[in-house]
Amino acid sequence: MSGDLPAKLNRRIADKTDDLVALTCDLIRFPTVNPPGDAYAPCAEYIGRRLASRGFEVSYMRGEGTPGDSDRYPRTNVVARREGGRPGPTVHFNGHIDVVEAGQGWSVAPFEAIVRDGRVFGRGACDMKGGIAAAIIAMEALIEERSDIPGTIEISGTVDEESGGFGGVAYLAEKGLFSRPRVDHVIIPEPLNKDRICLGHRGVWWAEIETHGRIAHGSMPFLGQCAVRGMGAVIEAFERELFPLLDQKRTSMPVVPEGARRSTLNINAIHGGQTDDFTGLPSPNVPDSCRMTIDRRFLIEEHLDDVKAEVRSILDELVAARPDFRYSLKDIMEVLPTMTDADAPVVQSVSDAVKTVLGREPDLVISPGTYDQKHIARIGHLDDCIAYGPGILDLAHTPDEWVGIDDMREAATVMAIATAGLLGID
Ligand SMILES: [Zn+2]
Repeated sequence: MSGDLPAKLNRRIADKTDDLVALTCDLIRFPTVNPPGDAYAPCAEYIGRRLASRGFEVSYMRGEGTPGDSDRYPRTNVVARREGGRPGPTVHFNGHIDVVEAGQGWSVAPFEAIVRDGRVFGRGACDMKGGIAAAIIAMEALIEERSDIPGTIEISGTVDEESGGFGGVAYLAEKGLFSRPRVDHVIIPEPLNKDRICLGHRGVWWAEIETHGRIAHGSMPFLGQCAVRGMGAVIEAFERELFPLLDQKRTSMPVVPEGARRSTLNINAIHGGQTDDFTGLPSPNVPDSCRMTIDRRFLIEEHLDDVKAEVRSILDELVAARPDFRYSLKDIMEVLPTMTDADAPVVQSVSDAVKTVLGREPDLVISPGTYDQKHIARIGHLDDCIAYGPGILDLAHTPDEWVGIDDMREAATVMAIATAGLLGID
């Protein structure tokens, strides 16, 4: 890269600061709340219209038949592609347009996009409409700076990340949009902070454990078999054997926050006996079923088969120890851990750009939870993928969520310089 390109991009993006803020505000004003997946089409079309006017070829792909897709709530994704005049690699920026519900506790209207004190406030400001806006501004600045750039730039706005990404990135990946030779490098501008590069995430196993009992009159519980007491024994065994074991399992993955640098298990839900939405007085029954959902996060050093076997062996011990203890175990969802190599081209380019813009080495981190990179790795088989974007991760999904304007501008400059590097622009 010639010596002055970073400075020129920096200046050009600084000049676009008002545009960057306006774009972020416009995106926030589409209340793309998921579930149910509201306002996806108008938001996708807004992004599509803007990029079409900048010379991108725009297509819309509806995740037809994916969870939640309906004519009322279509899973509309937008993909914009600009091929340069000369051959070269493809750099793809992917952002999810869906946001979680606003929830309670806001001091500003969550979908009005309030600009104050150098920040943009609103649901999705940080996670991740600020990141999408930064990527769009970054690519527009690069194209204006060098109209003859080689290779291809793609920007996609996809749906449903907050609910697993099946109608969004997974759907597009099934269609080949995240595989070579169509794409070489992918950057997901999730809010990981402007000085951090996220290489991937831990694995997930969601499962449901059900304990089975026998219904009887509640005044004579000895005639039945209480499934809730069976589940109590499961929890007690987990406390005694499983949680201490998981605490011992440390990882070399640089997960942030540091507390997540090990195996974890969350008891997500538990239901037994009388349904919790009944009104009136309960009927006197011994519950014959109790169900518990577990959310186990595992490490790149662990195998999913072993993760499952750990839980199953505890349940089998209970079968041996407790008369009449019966259970079933059902998988709900599995995601393998993924970690892009620190030497991968996209990591190197973004690292160099962070050094240029911020004057320091970025931290290479791993996310405790998963995001759309899982589909790009598993379905697209593309290993040159990271998350890098503005916004403070801890603010995601909170009331009064915000993104800093300076952070967006600096992250956009990093994205533009990194893309220039990946495309070999000098
Ligand atoms: Zn996100």
